[in-house]
Amino acid sequence: MSFPRTFGWVAAAWAVVLGGYALAIVVLRPGQALTSFGDVVQCFVPLLANTGLLLNAGAPHWRRNVFWMLLALGCMFWMFGQFQWTYYEVYLRKPLPQVYLGDMVFFLRGIPVMAALALRPHHRRGDLRLRFGYLDFVLLLMWWIFLYVFFVFPWMYATPSASQYNYNYLLLANIQNLIIILAIAWFWLRTRGAWRKVYTHLFGAAATYMLSSMAINAAIAVDHYRTGSLYDLPLLASFLWYGTTGVVAYLNRNALDAPGELGPMHDESEVARREGIVASRLATTAVLSLPFFALWTIEFSKDSSEVREFRLLVTVVAMVPLAFLVFLRQHLADSDRLRLLERTEQSMDNLQRLQAQLVQSEKLVSLGQLAAGAAHEINNPLTAILGFSDLLVDDASIPEKARTTAAKIRDQARRTKTLVANLLSFARQAPSERTLLDINTVVTNAAQLRGLDLKGSTSIELRLESVLPGVRGDGNQLMQVFFNIISNAIDAMEPAGGVLTIKTQRDRSHVVVLFSDTGSGLKDPLRVFDPFYTTKPVGKGTGLGLSICYGLIQEHGGRIICYNRPEGGAVFRVDLPSVTAALPSREPQLPVTAGAGPSKDA
Ligand code: ADP
Repeated sequence: MSFPRTFGWVAAAWAVVLGGYALAIVVLRPGQALTSFGDVVQCFVPLLANTGLLLNAGAPHWRRNVFWMLLALGCMFWMFGQFQWTYYEVYLRKPLPQVYLGDMVFFLRGIPVMAALALRPHHRRGDLRLRFGYLDFVLLLMWWIFLYVFFVFPWMYATPSASQYNYNYLLLANIQNLIIILAIAWFWLRTRGAWRKVYTHLFGAAATYMLSSMAINAAIAVDHYRTGSLYDLPLLASFLWYGTTGVVAYLNRNALDAPGELGPMHDESEVARREGIVASRLATTAVLSLPFFALWTIEFSKDSSEVREFRLLVTVVAMVPLAFLVFLRQHLADSDRLRLLERTEQSMDNLQRLQAQLVQSEKLVSLGQLAAGAAHEINNPLTAILGFSDLLVDDASIPEKARTTAAKIRDQARRTKTLVANLLSFARQAPSERTLLDINTVVTNAAQLRGLDLKGSTSIELRLESVLPGVRGDGNQLMQVFFNIISNAIDAMEPAGGVLTIKTQRDRSHVVVLFSDTGSGLKDPLRVFDPFYTTKPVGKGTGLGLSICYGLIQEHGGRIICYNRPEGGAVFRVDLPSVTAALPSREPQLPVTAGAGPSKDA
């Protein structure tokens, strides 16, 4: 919605509510009709405020959402208080009692508002540490309830007195309102831009509420107030203003999130640290304040002994849940610290692994360069061997036996040439390049390369689907993925030995590669793709291989999963999206296994 249109709606809401109310006061004479009208409108206006406030509750930042929700909760409390008035005045048709337990709901309204302000939504976008957030909120709630029970209840239950009740209730409610206003004013001073705008409106709303409730309560005290009088107009205005604040914030939502709008900026971790300290100090102060209340009651209070006894009892009882909450908070903070410590230790471990891996990678890079150079040099004599053996094979003047031997030499030379070519392509640091690939070839090459240093009775068995659709991808990257999976499987099978079966097949629009080994199986299948997860000793494993594979396969639009076979051993399944044109499969050119040669599923 555009700015002018939204403000049109807001102005209309103000005009309709305040204008309509004023008109009703003028038109309807004091009596039941006006009272009922006043009560119903006052029940409805907090909802209007909430509509504006909750516009902001869908922000991507929790801290902000909770802030607006708590403000709305404050309005809801007030609305529940108003329901009681409506019940008495509209349904029972009699005035609310002077001393009434339900007044507490109006008082409690301030607590969510204070909790909202304590979140300081302008500070950070970061997530709330909700566990502490809830605890602090409960602590705040309990402490204010204690104050209410301590100051107001004695005049209801110990020595009933309407005037003392009113006096203490108003004093406490006004202190609470004043704290809210001061907090908003403080934030107003500390922020700039859009947040300052929001706090200006919030200040207006809170100040209007305080002044109107002071005026109404003063009027009630001298029996001057009735629902449906001019006193209600500022009260209604305060709720409209809360709603308007919500709308203003909603219209400025982008500016509120902009980093420049966060007011005098602090280092985020520093803010979090200070927030934690402030919250725990407040909690401690709340608990420590209780003995002072008791001391004041015993030493300085001039009230009757019933009132004093009541207050002492309340203080002692309040100590239990408050102390329990502080204890719980401390306990949670401790376990949080422990967790953090463990995480730090783990990070240090990972760092060490990474360092080791870096050194290893450096070595491998040099080795790769060396191998590439050597392979290049080997290629030239190989080409010569191939050429000459070809000549010998085709030379009819040489005896048959010699020609057969030459053919064998030629085959072996070809095999070596393919191997050298694979080595060269694997060692090459090529930029990512997508081409149409035959997965059978990539799998075969990876298996051949890894199969070079197979020991003992470990073998790799290839069962390749004869005709597979092509896959668009980076041959080098996919080769790296397969190489890594094969290496892990061999590691899991050695030294005892076993068989790794690699199967390719098509599955609707995908090409599937299955690696099943007969090794020890996965210890924790859910974690194998986590970076730094490894069960290998330091120096051998880094835990990065599969997490890199995972990323590469995802980049190819594919999927990689793993699971344990019931009969033992692990299975890795790679699904890659195929392109429609089928590529004929290539025969694997050299036996890969230390034991058996590659077999092929037709
Ligand atoms: P690394 O090989 O450096 O440990 P990876 O990310 O490649 O890192 O593998 C992570 C872990 O997954 C390995 O340490 C191993 O515990 C487990 N794993 C991977 N493949 C297999 C397999 N075929 N059989 C058993 N465990 C495996």
